[in-house]
Amino acid sequence: MQEGVSPKPSINPKALRAKAKPQPSPAEWVAMIRQGDTQALSRAITLVESSAPRHRALSQEVVDRCLPYSGDSVRIGVTGVPGVGKSTFIESFGIYLIENTGKRLAVLAIDPTSSISHGSILGDKSRMTRLSASPRAFVRPSPAGGSLGGVARKTREAMILCEAAGHEIVLVETVGVGQSELTVHSMVDCFLLLMLAGAGDEMQGIKRGIMEMADLLTITKVDGENVNAAKVARQRYLNALHLFPPTASGWTPPVLLSSAVTGAGIDSVWSEIVRFVEHEGAGGFFDARRSKQAKAWFQETIENRILERFHSQSGMRERLQFLEERVMRGEIGVRSAVDALFE
Ligand code: GDP
Repeated sequence: MQEGVSPKPSINPKALRAKAKPQPSPAEWVAMIRQGDTQALSRAITLVESSAPRHRALSQEVVDRCLPYSGDSVRIGVTGVPGVGKSTFIESFGIYLIENTGKRLAVLAIDPTSSISHGSILGDKSRMTRLSASPRAFVRPSPAGGSLGGVARKTREAMILCEAAGHEIVLVETVGVGQSELTVHSMVDCFLLLMLAGAGDEMQGIKRGIMEMADLLTITKVDGENVNAAKVARQRYLNALHLFPPTASGWTPPVLLSSAVTGAGIDSVWSEIVRFVEHEGAGGFFDARRSKQAKAWFQETIENRILERFHSQSGMRERLQFLEERVMRGEIGVRSAVDALFE
């Protein structure tokens, strides 16, 4: 060891001090979030994402206390198959929003693949770097781990915290695979579907149901040689939409053309969202949708809690496995096996 250089302590004293710092109280959390302290918002979301039982009560209280300050935003879901251009679109759209509406923006993501494969479709790219650098944007990648239901709960609560922090537009991005579109649809005011002009619908995994859920569609990458194909595709999508039954509110989803690269049409996506929100608001459909979502979330949470309780009973795993094997061997009927479980 060099003379005069004191040996490094094995524990960094700074880390110790950081550890000793007491956890803020729920009221302190809310005050920091409401002041627009981005770091506090980020840490509060981490708290909400934590599955540790010791964080449960605190995070629940922080969310409850933020609830009265939440809800005053437009929640927009953005979906489309991988490669359609979601992150590029959100970056371009986000910067447009910040520069032209004066509003603050939060971008959240739902990526069920991150919990299933531990590799993430959304998370592995360096994403939205310009947007992330803006002080008026808050970009948060998808929470890792847990079931889609768990990720959904975390995203919903993160949304409440972002709104309490003064973010007036929340974008929730999802990969167009599996059930994640349904999940995002169940938490937003407006569902935007991004589509490609060239690829066939089968290629895009566009199921009828997804198109039917969309409040707005935009064809992406409408630049260069793509422009003509996009116009043809637009007409095709309009025809397809025409076959769906009209929505309760009487809204007809527009099919827009946009390019995240040239910025063409990005403004019309926003003006159409504004038109949609006004249309839905005037008929009471905007609030009705939110109430319905809250009710569904409540019911879903009850079901999850019941399942959790059921599975956490002592010896349940062994009993389940034992009966499952007997069911598989045909030794016991399913209903009798269930009766045995509930005894
Ligand atoms: P995501 O998987 O849906 O998030 O798609 P990305 O945003 O990562 O985009 C996929 C690819 O399409 C990337 O290579 C982008 O550069 C490209 N891309 C995205 N938007 C546009 C656009 O508006 N015009 C053109 N020409 N390319 C685009």
